[in-house]
Amino acid sequence: MQEEEFDLENRIVSTSYGPEDAESDLSLRPKTLSEYIGQTKTKENLKVFIEAAKMRKETLDHVLLYGPPGLGKTTLSAIIAAEMGVNIRITSGPAIEKQGDLAALLTNLSEGDVLFIDEIHRLNRSVEEILYPAMEDYSLDLIIGKGPAARSIRLPLAKFTLIGATTRAGQLSTPLRDRFGVTFKLDLYTPEELAQIVVRSAGILNIEIDRNGALEIASRSRGTPRIANRLLKRVRDFAQFENEGAITERMAMYALSKLDIDELGLDNTDRKMMETIIKYYGGGPVGLETLAATVGEEAVTLEDVYEPYLMQIGFISRTPRGRCVTRAAYEHLGLKFPEPQPRQSAEIPGQASLFD
Ligand code: ADP
Repeated sequence: MQEEEFDLENRIVSTSYGPEDAESDLSLRPKTLSEYIGQTKTKENLKVFIEAAKMRKETLDHVLLYGPPGLGKTTLSAIIAAEMGVNIRITSGPAIEKQGDLAALLTNLSEGDVLFIDEIHRLNRSVEEILYPAMEDYSLDLIIGKGPAARSIRLPLAKFTLIGATTRAGQLSTPLRDRFGVTFKLDLYTPEELAQIVVRSAGILNIEIDRNGALEIASRSRGTPRIANRLLKRVRDFAQFENEGAITERMAMYALSKLDIDELGLDNTDRKMMETIIKYYGGGPVGLETLAATVGEEAVTLEDVYEPYLMQIGFISRTPRGRCVTRAAYEHLGLKFPEPQPRQSAEIPGQASLFD
C-alpha cells in the first residue's frame, strides 16, 4: 500500500488546523458564551463557575477541556477569559521546550489571567514539574546554579487560571490531571447544531444560504465546527462559480459531491482506510499500529482524527484485538458483509452415538 494514495495533508475534512482556517479563526470564532453553539451542559456549568468566581472576586479554578480537534476548545478558552474580563496567553505543549520557557510565561501573567496550553498531554516531564507548584500554590520553584552550589528559590506568581486542552485525557499524568479543578469533555456536534454554526458563519461571511443548504453542509461535517466552516467556504466557491445566488440543498449536494465528500461526510481517505482493513485484514480486527503503518499515518492521528467520527456513526468498532469494520460500513461502501461462519461442531462424526 502506497502512502501517496492517502492524501492526508490536503484533506478538506481534516479536523486539524490548516492555513485556510486562519481567516475563519479571526472572524468566525464566537466571542461570548451565548454565541457559542451547542455543548449545552459544559456551557451551563461554566456559566455557574464563572459567575461564582466573579462574585467571590477570585480567579477561576484550573480547567481541563478534552475532545477531538476542531470542536472549539481554543474558542471556549478565549470566551472564558473574555467572560472573566482577563487576558489570555495561548501556547501549546510542544512549544514549551524548557522549564525556562514556562517560567517566562508564568512570570509574565497578571492577576486572574488565563494561560491556555493546547495539547497539554505533550508537555515534557521536566516542564510539567514546574507546573505543579504553579497550579497549586501559585509559586515557581527554580533551581539556581549547578552542583554543590545549586540552591532552590521559590518565587510567588500572580493567581492565574490554567486552561489545558487535550485530545486524550487518558494520556495526562495523574498528578497533572488531579490539579485541575474542573474537567469538561466536548462532544461531537449534532447536524442541527452544526447547521446553526453554518448559518451564523454564513452571516458573518456575507454568504446567502437557506436552511436546507446549511443542513446539508452540517450533516457532512463529521460533527466538527472547524470542518463545517471549511465546507461552507468551499461550497460558496462553487455557488459563485455557477452563478447561483444562494447556497441551496441542491447546490450544497452538487459542490460536496464534486469534492468527493459523501452524504455522511466521508472522503476518499476514510473510504480507503476502511477498504484497507477489509482488503488486507478481512475486515479486522487489525491492531492500530499495523493499520497506521499500512495507511502511512501516525497511530495517534488515526485515533484522534479519524476514529472518533467513524466510531460515532458505527462504522469502526474497537475490540481488545484491534479495529474492525462493521456491517454498516460494508453496506455504505457497497460491499458484501462476510456472514460469520456457523461454529464447527467439536464432535467427531460418528462419535455422538457413544453418549446416546
Ligand atoms: P479546537 O481548539 O478544539 O481544535 P477551535 O476552538 O480552534 O477548536 O475551533 C475551530 C473553529 O470552529 C473555530 O474557528 C470556530 O470558528 C468554530 N467553532 C468551534 N466551536 C464553535 C461553537 N460552539 N460555535 C460556533 N463556532 C464554533
